[in-house]
Amino acid sequence: MNEKNNDNNDKDKNLEKKEEKINNIFDKKEKNEKNEKDITNEKKEEDKNENIKLNNNIIPLDEEKEINEEKEKIDSNKKKKNRRVPIKDWACRSLKEYQIINEIGEGAYGIVYKAKYIGEKEYKNLYGIPDVVALKQIKTEKEKEGFPITALREIIILKELEHKNIVKLLEVVISEPKKDKRIEEGKINRDVYLVFEFMKHDLFGIISNNIVYNLSQIKYIFHELVLGLKYLHDNNILHRDLKPSNILLNDKNEIKIGDFGLARIFSKSSNAIKRYTNRVVTTCYRAPELILGETNYTTEVDIWSLGCILLELLTRKNAFYFKDDNEEGEGTFGLICKLCGNPNEENWKGVTQYKNYKFIPKENYQCKINNKTFPNLDEVTLDIIKKMLTLNPKKRITLDEILKHPFLTSHEPKMCKAEDMPKIEESFNSLNHGGCENEKKKEKIEMKIAGNDYLGKKKKK
Ligand code: ADP
Ligand code: MG
Repeated sequence: MNEKNNDNNDKDKNLEKKEEKINNIFDKKEKNEKNEKDITNEKKEEDKNENIKLNNNIIPLDEEKEINEEKEKIDSNKKKKNRRVPIKDWACRSLKEYQIINEIGEGAYGIVYKAKYIGEKEYKNLYGIPDVVALKQIKTEKEKEGFPITALREIIILKELEHKNIVKLLEVVISEPKKDKRIEEGKINRDVYLVFEFMKHDLFGIISNNIVYNLSQIKYIFHELVLGLKYLHDNNILHRDLKPSNILLNDKNEIKIGDFGLARIFSKSSNAIKRYTNRVVTTCYRAPELILGETNYTTEVDIWSLGCILLELLTRKNAFYFKDDNEEGEGTFGLICKLCGNPNEENWKGVTQYKNYKFIPKENYQCKINNKTFPNLDEVTLDIIKKMLTLNPKKRITLDEILKHPFLTSHEPKMCKAEDMPKIEESFNSLNHGGCENEKKKEKIEMKIAGNDYLGKKKKK
């Protein structure tokens, strides 16, 4: 900003100097003309011609042109500065630009609303704000540390992203100051709202409302998610919370990854020392390396979650859903081992060194991702699931390999087009259904049983 100002100041000064130069010349010219009054008409004409010649020698025409151009540039810059539409990069407008229609979901930091744009048309057109949006409220009143770090991450990361399979953050707005005691208590007294393009459904609502997709429709959803995730990973971003309630669908059957509250930028350099928290991803979509305590993880954690989502779409069941009151007390890792087999030094070198390895079931489970467990799934489908749900992250399939896997390239039925996706009834609003409630309950349970507990509940004596 300052550099730009200095630049403009220098330009202003240069222009002033040049203007002074021109004015002097014109002053001289005027004086000459005054003297000319005494001279005869004929002589006057001659002198005038002479003067023009002289003037042309002193201020070359192109310099005058340059001055005028520069003047125009500075004037237009000034005009831009004074225009009513704020410059997006610096703007944080008011919540008053939107009118809330209804609640559509509940986030960890506040409610998500459907809202109508009622602000300036010029701004709307300039920045492509649609008529209807989703407002994600970030309540700050309960925050001891001021503004929640997850919301900050979400804003910073989403501001840089632009992809058809990533939900679009349109702007951030703030509420009017609250007339409560927050400011006296040293807290922020405004709520912040993230403005997103509106998405009609989330995948959690769709699955829990028994909307059934056929294999080619599942392939379409899966392929869109792979493209979105590939864009994130190519841009050094880990999502770390992939699950059906964070996958959004709109009327045009576009599929978009949302909720970047747990996302983070990662380093691709193998030398970088990485110490990331392993308290990420909702329990039943959490990769085994995270459960075992790995802090130096990377893109493979998102591929595991995507594998869980694909299996859930195919079977209508969450494979690793760990009920809090599970009598057998096997926990999520117990369920993972039962389906994918036990990790050991043979299939995962170094696994026994993890601090949580001692919680792994003693039984010698073998991988059961086969047509006995899933009689409705064919070999190719089972193969991609098996490769995504591979315990050892180093052996897990990559996104590039997924894109080349027969499941997406040659296997029948081929993936459908967006227009072949089922139309979800107008009256059905997946975002409002009990699904979100259950999800929230599950998350509360997860918070309670933080740490090792989700490796297995202690058996009742
Ligand atoms: P949290 O981090 O608290 O989980 P999310 O961003 O996942 O917050 O939002 C919570 C819920 O709100 C989502 O599961 C979804 O149902 C709904 N939601 C989020 N973003 C949108 C959107 N752009 N359009 C419509 N609904 C949305
Ligand atoms: Mg969410």
